[in-house]
Amino acid sequence: MKTWRVIDLIEWTAKYFERHEIPTPRLDAELLLGYILQKSRLQLYLHFEMPVFHEGLSQFRTLIKKRAARMPVSYLTNHKEFLSLDFYVNQHVLIPRPETEVLVETVLQQQQGQCRFVDIGTGSGAIAISLAYHRPDWEAVATDVGTEILEVAQKNAAAHNCADRLTFLQGDLFDPLGELSNPRFDWIASNPPYVSTEEAATLSPDVRKHEPEIALFAGSDGLSIIRRIVADAPKFLNLHGKLILEIGYNQSPAVQDLIKSHPSYTDYQVIKDYSGIERIIVAGV
Ligand code: SAM
Ligand code: GLN
Repeated sequence: MKTWRVIDLIEWTAKYFERHEIPTPRLDAELLLGYILQKSRLQLYLHFEMPVFHEGLSQFRTLIKKRAARMPVSYLTNHKEFLSLDFYVNQHVLIPRPETEVLVETVLQQQQGQCRFVDIGTGSGAIAISLAYHRPDWEAVATDVGTEILEVAQKNAAAHNCADRLTFLQGDLFDPLGELSNPRFDWIASNPPYVSTEEAATLSPDVRKHEPEIALFAGSDGLSIIRRIVADAPKFLNLHGKLILEIGYNQSPAVQDLIKSHPSYTDYQVIKDYSGIERIIVAGV
């Protein structure tokens, strides 16, 4: 019987993924094998000649089949790095995206001193937890629609030692804030669902087949949730408070119009992501 070494498995799997049109075949092969063997990619390179035996092989085979069916690597390994922090993820939550790091960095740059914020649609908790992690004197509320989603966020909050400063509430957008003694915040942050139903066919199969629909889609123009957030946010902001939103690649003009036509907003600012796309809007009251 053939003995499979680390290098053989990586090379075989990379070719197999290539035939299945996986965008980053070798990287994914290394990440999945590293996950099974509990080794970093560097450690794998240092152990290229190491044989992999029965149990490891069969676990690896299962993951390879799922990846070929376009299950994202992060769901297979239950892990995604966001702003250098390790987040647990499963199929109840969106895998945090690099664009969203720009949102977090913007709040960190613009807010001096103490602050209380809310993250609407927290998912894995990426926004709320990375802000709380970097600013130990900040407090926050984080909301989402489902218990399984909030369980993921709470697990991540505990892992990053900020569970005591975060309150997780379940419900539709601002509804759960009604139960708080103080429902006003210095910042409202959200990366809401903003993909239009028409765009579904243009999403990569990884996203379309495996990420939660409720995290992605927002009606025929992708603005159904953003419209409600822009309309209601001022009621939950302190004087000089700010709303910060992540938006779709082509939504900047429409969202600017929503803000300009709402009497409570006094100013706004548009910020580009790493690809030069207008991705983040900050609006002040
Ligand atoms: N904040 C996370 C991030 O940036 O990675 C997740 C963002 S994901 C694009 C949108 C999140 O909003 C999902 O977790 C989804 O469950 C939640 N969501 C969708 N509709 C909602 C609603 N009506 N009220 C509250 N949360 C909602
Ligand atoms: N940026 C996500 C994508 O690539 C969409 C996330 C969202 O709707 N907020 O599909």
